[in-house]
Amino acid sequence: MASPHSKTPRTVLVTGAGSGIGRATAHAFADAGAHVVAVGRREAPLAGTAAHDPARISPLVADITAGDGPASIVRTALDRHGRIDVLVNNAGVVSTEALRTYTRAAVEHQLATNLLAPVLLVQAALPALEDSRGVIVNVTTSVGQRAWPGNSLYAAGKAALEVLTRSWAVEFAPLGIRVAAVAPGAIDTPIGAHSGHTPEQQAAIRAWQLAHTPLGRVGRPEEVAWAITQLASPQASFVTGVILPVDGGAVVA
Ligand code: NAP
Repeated sequence: MASPHSKTPRTVLVTGAGSGIGRATAHAFADAGAHVVAVGRREAPLAGTAAHDPARISPLVADITAGDGPASIVRTALDRHGRIDVLVNNAGVVSTEALRTYTRAAVEHQLATNLLAPVLLVQAALPALEDSRGVIVNVTTSVGQRAWPGNSLYAAGKAALEVLTRSWAVEFAPLGIRVAAVAPGAIDTPIGAHSGHTPEQQAAIRAWQLAHTPLGRVGRPEEVAWAITQLASPQASFVTGVILPVDGGAVVA
């Protein structure tokens, strides 16, 4: 995937690229010819992602919630490729807890990952995205706008990211930067295990999700990656401020 006005390959920064939707997104952009900087905290999963196309995907071990995380991630991407065309804010954590049992640390971890880090990454990448007339794609959740008792902070963080998506679309339009979000439904990734859910909890969540998904199945990470690459493509040049559900119809049911 080349930049709109040159044959220079685009550079895409994908957070949470070691597994699930982020890995599939890194692969999809690399398959389209882009350079991908694949960000995550653990080296081994990132190496697994990069093995798909080591010439185009370079791992970057970093914690997006660290104090200097966002700035150093952006600096490293620019050192490697000299430009950033697309920022995909995909890394996320989910925890299923009623508010009364949340510790302050758990609240802060949830919001630092799902909300604060995307804000600071966008801020750090803004000059580079302005130079490239680039694109930001945020990954939210298809049920973020609904009541979600037992998981209110996850939904709240994602809903806030959707508000930011619309606001940034307007704020950055004069800079030539487009902003969109993809809102996945139930997708087959290790997010439940990463969140410390027991197999029984994962099965219960999956059963509830399937009962609320008209297409009657769980989605594949590649189906979300497709949507992300389409929204980021130069052909989507008149699309900004949208939130695209990729959820088998869950949000309209
Ligand atoms: P996943 O496989 O758990 O991927 C999340 C990735 O984020 C992991 O590879 C993790 O790698 C990385 N990560 C977490 N905290 C990080 C941090 N502080 N710094 C850097 N990287 C970090 O889950 P997924 O399902 O693909 O989730 C991707 C996005 O989709 C998330 O935003 C999630 O909320 C959203 N989503 C998923 C679903 C679904 O059903 N799967 C539905 C709706 C929305 P490390 O642990 O190595 O850092």
